[in-house]
Amino acid sequence: MVGREAPVLICHSHLRWDWVFQRPQHLLSRLAREWTVIVEEEPVFDDRPAGLDVLDVGGGVTVLRPHRRADVDHDLGRLVEGYVAMARGRRPLVRWFYSPMFAAYGDRLGPGQVVVYDCMDELAGFAGAPAGLKEAEDRLLERADVVFTGGRALYEAKRDRNPGVHCFPSAVEETHFARALDPDLPLPADLAGLPRPILGYYGVVDERLDYDLIAALADDRPEGSVVLVGPTIKVDPARLPRRPNLRYLGQKGYAELPAYLKGFDVCLMPWALNEATRHISPTKTLEYMAGGKPIVSTAVQDVVRDHGDIVLVARDAAHFLGLARQAPALFDADREEAGRRRAKGMGWDGTADAMRRLVEGKLGEGRRRPRAARPPQSTRSLIVGGGPAGLSAGLHLDDSDFILADRHDRAGGLCRSIVQDGFTFDYAGHIFFTNDPYVDGLFRGILADNFHEQQRESWIHLYDSYQRYPFQGNLYGLPPEVIKECLLGVIKAGRDADAPAGNANGGRPLNFLEWSLRTFGEGITKHFMQPYNFKVWGIDPARMSSDWIAGRVLTPSLDEVIDGSLRRGRGDMGPNARFGYPLRGGCEMFVSGLARRVEARGGEFAMRRSLVSIDPARKRATFRVGGRGEGGELRTIRYDRLFPSVPLPELIEAIDGAPESVRKAAAGLPSTAVVCVNLGIDREKVTEKHWIYYPEGQDKFLFQRIFVQSNASPHTAPPGHSALTFEISHSKYKPLPVKGKRAMVEACVAGLKRTDLWREGDQVAFEQVLGMPHAYIPFTPDREGRLAVINAYLHKLDIYPIGRFGEWKYVNQDGAILSGKRVVESVQADGKLQPEAAAPAPAEASPPQKRPLAVAMSAEILGNGHGNGHANGNGKGPARLAADL
Ligand SMILES: Cc1cc2nc3c(=O)[nH]c(=O)nc-3n(C[C@H](O)[C@H](O)[C@H](O)COP(=O)(O)OP(=O)(O)OC[C@H]3O[C@@H](n4cnc5c(N)ncnc54)[C@H](O)[C@@H]3O)c2cc1C
Repeated sequence: MVGREAPVLICHSHLRWDWVFQRPQHLLSRLAREWTVIVEEEPVFDDRPAGLDVLDVGGGVTVLRPHRRADVDHDLGRLVEGYVAMARGRRPLVRWFYSPMFAAYGDRLGPGQVVVYDCMDELAGFAGAPAGLKEAEDRLLERADVVFTGGRALYEAKRDRNPGVHCFPSAVEETHFARALDPDLPLPADLAGLPRPILGYYGVVDERLDYDLIAALADDRPEGSVVLVGPTIKVDPARLPRRPNLRYLGQKGYAELPAYLKGFDVCLMPWALNEATRHISPTKTLEYMAGGKPIVSTAVQDVVRDHGDIVLVARDAAHFLGLARQAPALFDADREEAGRRRAKGMGWDGTADAMRRLVEGKLGEGRRRPRAARPPQSTRSLIVGGGPAGLSAGLHLDDSDFILADRHDRAGGLCRSIVQDGFTFDYAGHIFFTNDPYVDGLFRGILADNFHEQQRESWIHLYDSYQRYPFQGNLYGLPPEVIKECLLGVIKAGRDADAPAGNANGGRPLNFLEWSLRTFGEGITKHFMQPYNFKVWGIDPARMSSDWIAGRVLTPSLDEVIDGSLRRGRGDMGPNARFGYPLRGGCEMFVSGLARRVEARGGEFAMRRSLVSIDPARKRATFRVGGRGEGGELRTIRYDRLFPSVPLPELIEAIDGAPESVRKAAAGLPSTAVVCVNLGIDREKVTEKHWIYYPEGQDKFLFQRIFVQSNASPHTAPPGHSALTFEISHSKYKPLPVKGKRAMVEACVAGLKRTDLWREGDQVAFEQVLGMPHAYIPFTPDREGRLAVINAYLHKLDIYPIGRFGEWKYVNQDGAILSGKRVVESVQADGKLQPEAAAPAPAEASPPQKRPLAVAMSAEILGNGHGNGHANGNGKGPARLAADL
């Protein structure tokens, strides 16, 4: 701690220190490296007069164990308070709660307290929960300055109960449990001789386990052993199932666990699915992973969502037995490696550090005013939107006085993923590539070994044949008469380019359509450029400007066009011929890692906050708690400067008193919506391709692209299945031809059946429909002018939009990250936003070239004309493939 005396932490816990070594011990022993840590346990009753045992348990932790005679009442709280007051002196005090039941008396300890509730279980759901627990927790949640939750489900249950709730799922002491991999580590005597396979569990043996399942497992594996290691509480040992091959080995020390883990062939998490387990985030998941073991679990929410890509999660009891049998085979080297990597990346040190920083941020603030008055929170920097741009803003702010608000339950924006029924889908497949070294470093640093690179296989399906992408360089495979038409068009366009061009646009093409005709001629424009671009952008290319094309659409030379019509190319042209994707967990693995880095900086994450209004004069933003469409309460945050990545038209709508000229400018910015139909097919590897474009009419193919999610990573579909995302754009110019989710699914399946991806006998095993109201930003001729009006107004108010929808430009996640970085750094350095450096106009840009087709392929060929010239966010560097189209 800089400039302040280290605090004294008094922890109120219902768990005895020398009982099972778990979250409190891991965290408190680490906090004790810098702070004085005292743990108050529940009283013991014996014959001694009332008093306090003060136990030095090592590592800087002192345990206070009050005692009294059962029949003589005594204010033991006073004794604890006296001790703490003496130990504390004038130092700040952190009161850290595991049990809300201790809450009352500590308030007498005086000012300078920060109250922390580390909520690791939904205690009220446990058997034998004391009366009044719920009310005590309500008071604690109201009183706490910071609340930590031990997992996602708990976070979701508490996040609206206090403005400072942070999710810190269980972590792991990886090196300790990796000892299970040590060939020299001897097996414990009570395990060594048991018949194999050994299906093992360690942890508390209580009402949270499914004993019918455990008995069924023992019956199913008479040749092997089912082993439960841990203390038995709150269940009657006489009522536990008994089988010859079912062993209860009792409690073991933390130091002994790796040896037991080593002896397990399959690790079990046979949780009963009930109130007591609805919110658990089992610590042992990562411990089992650190030991490189196959894990089979029942479908506990947090296990499925956080680790469903590694843990084998059973649908029901029969499935559990099946998975337990197949676990050693299903748990291949990839899965084991991924588990060990995850465990390595989720240590208690990082968690304790991040918590310590959050608490230190609160120290010295003094006691909070009563919440009933709900004074506006105040922050230097308010970030609205937790997608890549907002996260990047949080990462690059030079102080931790920021709040990041988002209407969703977690950060990530369009780069989140959904894990369901063994499938992992993105909001349209999100691949990773960039030509910016800084972002490349972030991608690789955060994803580490989970970053899986491969050679791109992108194709176009037209007239029942496949061409490699991009179209204009790969005519091979099309019907001969189409190739002829395309080639003649290209040759004529080249000749016409020699003739002087004149029009109202100073000779430059009036629009995208005209640019295509001049550059590629009639054939390529008619067969691909026009229909495909209309299908994707949802707006006719004749309505789109041509000034954005520079550096995004590559024009192959005539030689190259001819060459590409005579033979199949290798499909490896351009800098992103290789792309990355997380092997496990979907594209969200990157943004979730990024969010952890941002959260560790100490800023506050305020999730499920939908921006509803901004009072620009008083610099106050008001949010509805509970996400969009929910009628939650309103909360206001005062800011010095605002960094929103909210879509611009919605942002302007929310600003009180925005001038009519600005409102009009924003209302005229068109965007394209996308619907994703995600299908699971019950056959592995329906194709080798990564994605396929479908330029033909929507009556034949409703979708413009199929992204083969299970080829980005095989772990996004259950074994024996493929995962496909069908992308369908729509806009006011191109409404959806079918309405309703069912009809969309049916139309996609009908289209799929017209391709060779479908075989007789295939079944759709999974379906899901996701909508993105803002997805693409089409370039229209008046875009720049509208943005100039809007930004001149916003910047004066210290509102600096960021990201794809804030800056209203066509960027991928790398561009969004650089947008957040550039804007924040510029405002920090100069107190205002400096204009972005203009992109240098590439050689093939308009004004039209005399001989456009003679320009060499200097960068990526962009088959659809939707490259991402801003992929590096500053407009510099070579153009990149528009991967999201
Ligand atoms: C179909 C499709 C495919 C794509 N494929 C790729 C790809 O393969 N590779 C790639 O790199 N990029 C891809 N992208 C682009 C990528 O998704 C975006 O560039 C990136 O998500 C932009 O980040 P952002 O932070 O600017 O915006 P977003 O990710 O949209 O984040 C904005 C955040 O603001 C929040 N928000 C909005 N309104 C409010 C409000 N009123 N109150 C509170 N919060 C609000 C949202 O909840 C969201 O979290 C694709 C995009 C699409 C649409």
